[in-house]
Amino acid sequence: MSENTFMGVPRDKIDWAPTIDYTRCDYCMECDIFCPHQVFERREQEDKKLIVKNPNNCVVFCRACSKTCGPDALSFPNKAETTKRIKEIRKELAGND
Ligand code: SF4
Ligand code: SF4
Repeated sequence: MSENTFMGVPRDKIDWAPTIDYTRCDYCMECDIFCPHQVFERREQEDKKLIVKNPNNCVVFCRACSKTCGPDALSFPNKAETTKRIKEIRKELAGND
């Protein structure tokens, strides 16, 4: 259960978060330093030293951390498709009332 909603849709139904391309990431941690929402988690002892731990903490349609990423290792879902899906979910939820 999430109390957070976006456009009336529960946040956990919306697929919006960064994906880390591990072939590019150099673990500079600039994205984690920048983001105030605890989306990322550092795993210093593991091969993948940074993971997307809390995707639902990511602000829907924010991409700000990607601007801090020199190697362009962060990508996001397609905005138009995400908007379309949010509208579909809104209709589904309205139909259930
Ligand atoms: S897109 Fe925004 S909210 Fe999401 S992880 Fe990056 S800086 Fe944080
Ligand atoms: S800013 Fe880019 S290169 Fe640096 S840790 Fe984040 S994803 Fe990796």
